[in-house]
Amino acid sequence: MQSPIAPPRSPRPRQLRWSRSLVVVALALVFAPLASTQALAKSSWQGVLSDHKLPQPPWPRRSSVRPNPAMAMFPMAAPNAYGPEPSAPSAIDRERFANALEQLCGTKTKLRRAHSAISHETAIQLTTHVLRWSKHFKVDPFVVSALVFRRSRCRARVHRRGLVGLGRIDVASHELHIRSGFYTYFVLDGDNTWQPRTLDVRLFRFSRRSLLRPSANIYFTAALLAVSGLQAPSLERAVKQVPHRHYVSHFVWGDRVRSSRNEELILQARRRMLRLYRADTPRPRARCRGIALQSPLDGYPRKISSGHRAWRVVAGRRRRHNGVDFVSTYGEPVRAAADGTVVFAGAHVRGGGWLLPPERARKVRSRSMISGLFVTLRHGRGVRTRYFHLSGYTVRTGQYVKAGQIIGWVGRTGIKQSAPHLHFEIHHWGRRLNPAYYLRPYLLPPHGKGLRRRRGYATRHLSVL
Ligand SMILES: [Zn+2]
Repeated sequence: MQSPIAPPRSPRPRQLRWSRSLVVVALALVFAPLASTQALAKSSWQGVLSDHKLPQPPWPRRSSVRPNPAMAMFPMAAPNAYGPEPSAPSAIDRERFANALEQLCGTKTKLRRAHSAISHETAIQLTTHVLRWSKHFKVDPFVVSALVFRRSRCRARVHRRGLVGLGRIDVASHELHIRSGFYTYFVLDGDNTWQPRTLDVRLFRFSRRSLLRPSANIYFTAALLAVSGLQAPSLERAVKQVPHRHYVSHFVWGDRVRSSRNEELILQARRRMLRLYRADTPRPRARCRGIALQSPLDGYPRKISSGHRAWRVVAGRRRRHNGVDFVSTYGEPVRAAADGTVVFAGAHVRGGGWLLPPERARKVRSRSMISGLFVTLRHGRGVRTRYFHLSGYTVRTGQYVKAGQIIGWVGRTGIKQSAPHLHFEIHHWGRRLNPAYYLRPYLLPPHGKGLRRRRGYATRHLSVL
């Protein structure tokens, strides 16, 4: 309510209002043509065709995302660093698929309310759509699941900047190509001419509203993935691209792929999903001082963003990084690298070491922890492994754990600037060893090559990888 002593609001002079609207109209007249030229320039093919002899593609260029300059700081591994991707099982068990999808989508942390967990009912519902429409459009259901996880964290009702629903489908880019329920796309034939092809997508309406429903969204996610696959060989020939391995890149980027980062994270999620689906403990591939080791994270080969003994500047002081940082996704499970006993599960809080049960850890601010929540395991023969920055853990001090058992989840506790990652250390009789050397079967090159056993190894390569 207005205070009785407040002065009455003075009416705005008429002249001022007039001149303001004139300015708005004038600005609109000046900038409208500019804006439309920009839109045209954005969708034109100028400068992106790799071969001038090829005819210009006869459709408006699709470009779904703009490169994020922050991401350029983390260039991904060269596509040829990877081996072949594991194949999907030919017959899929629906219940196991739903369980794997539920685990992939859920970030189950003890500290925070899980921000993207889905219920078992939702997982079953999504499984029905994923299996049905992947089969219909002949695409890999594990790629569709990984795509949905990476794009929306399995949330159906997200829409931002024209990207809608589970697959964050770019409505504006694709709606031009859909007429009367058919998606028209072009492929290069043997004579290097663009030939139109169509894909029947009549079962659902392609609209923003309809794409907010899981059934329609997964239907179009699978359909657009299929189109990407059918068109990819022609696009690779006609358009300048950043090297990439999988046509899922075209789902994310449209006609021109400008980074392989999304693809790498999607395929990593797919490998994690396959592991969750198989629900087995793979044979350990690594060894350290007589102890068989397996990867603390699923979905390998994995990339390391910061190596052992790399120089760091923390609070203005240079110090060495002790251990390795795995590029990870918030909430992904962290597994025991070997059988062992939990020596410590908790946090060191400023002003003294504290052993915190999970329910008390929730009350401690992440910033007041030194290196966040962490778990230390003792494996025998003097070998210990340590897992830092967790968002939560499942174990308590003194407990025995089996190799491959989930002991916690990747988080950001105790991290000031960087993205969520797992900081991992190996100790031998109190001395720190280089985890990248011992875990090399699970890491992307050059970690496996040219590494010296203990110190001063190729950290420079790691930071530019
Ligand atoms: Zn670290």
